[in-house]
Amino acid sequence: MPLTELQLQLDQRAAQGLLRSRRTVSSPQAPQLIVDGKSYLSFCSNDYLGLANHPQLIAALQQGAAHYGVGAGAAHLVSGHVAPHEQLEHALAAFVGKPAALLFSTGYMANLGMVQALVGRGDTVFADKLNHASLNDAMLLSRANVKRYQHCDMAQLAAMLSRTTGGRKLICTDAVFSMDGDMAPLAKLLTLCEAHDAWLLVDDAHGFGVSGCQGRGSLSHFGIASPRIIYMATLGKAAGVFGAFVAAEQVVIDTLINNARSYVYTTATPPALSVATLQSLRLIADGDELRAHLQDLIAQLREGLTGLPWQLMPSSTAIQPLVVGDNQAALDLSAGLRERGIWVAAIRPPTVPDGTARLRITLSAAHSTADVTRLLEALHELAQEF
Ligand SMILES: *Cc1c(COP(=O)(O)O)cnc(C)c1O
Repeated sequence: MPLTELQLQLDQRAAQGLLRSRRTVSSPQAPQLIVDGKSYLSFCSNDYLGLANHPQLIAALQQGAAHYGVGAGAAHLVSGHVAPHEQLEHALAAFVGKPAALLFSTGYMANLGMVQALVGRGDTVFADKLNHASLNDAMLLSRANVKRYQHCDMAQLAAMLSRTTGGRKLICTDAVFSMDGDMAPLAKLLTLCEAHDAWLLVDDAHGFGVSGCQGRGSLSHFGIASPRIIYMATLGKAAGVFGAFVAAEQVVIDTLINNARSYVYTTATPPALSVATLQSLRLIADGDELRAHLQDLIAQLREGLTGLPWQLMPSSTAIQPLVVGDNQAALDLSAGLRERGIWVAAIRPPTVPDGTARLRITLSAAHSTADVTRLLEALHELAQEF
């Protein structure tokens, strides 16, 4: 009986400390969350600037809904492409310094559609081993040859590129690695692309809004620009709304409009979301104080985490993982924090490599220094018990 089989698989997962489950939040995104009737100080949101519940975004969403209603009603290529979508695409392209941009419903769909539209059989995708799952799925779906290099190993990538002849070459990388928090060497990657006539796809889900001048993202952070770079970022993390976009040369965007299946065959996002995102872009551009506060919190956390039995990763971003190793030990540490009213998610394989289960601590400009102090005190207490 297939149902028994499924239950058996789940039981096996549970025995390995790998069962996934959800907790239901009943309050808006903020450092303090209500979960199952109890209040928790949370360090596991990607709302890096604290915009997800910003009064100006709520007002913009309400105005957008009052003017354009709720549903877009159809795909962009039919009757679902509405004025705020168009306006937002122009604003996003200008903000990240590209000629054109295209909105997707989610980052996952953007990656699937983009890779599949740009490469196929006979082409080769080169990918960092720690890339986000959506990029991994995108390469497989594209039917291109796939070559994965060790995390940020430029020498190995260069050798792989030299050995590859014929077909298009596309290098895919997270700009800020989602589970490690470190940044890809984008300038070196671009140099390799130029030497080997390859494209560079940069997934800036965790850099957009946070890094670079005025939060313009990782390309601005590294001071690089090239028509070879295809830039993607999500709008549900630092931007505090929902969705994603790709920014690139006009001919790339036109190709996506024609060939990206996850763009063509899906309903456009509600236009009111684009109205809210336009407001978010203004807050991001004016958000130097938020970003400076976030940097202060990162420094405070890293300093306070030294001397603990768990390994702190070399990250300068808002993603600060504490590697515990064993799955159950990571779950126990997360549970210990929860008993103290603090919520930090334990991240386990296959999201991270075997033996590197971790607490993924994420900071937000909405946190206070007192919040970080509370987390540090709890971790030092727990370190005594473990
Ligand atoms: C979150 C994330 C995505 C997916 O974006 P969604 O809009 O949440 O679907 C893609 N890439 C990376 C690196 C991410 O962290």
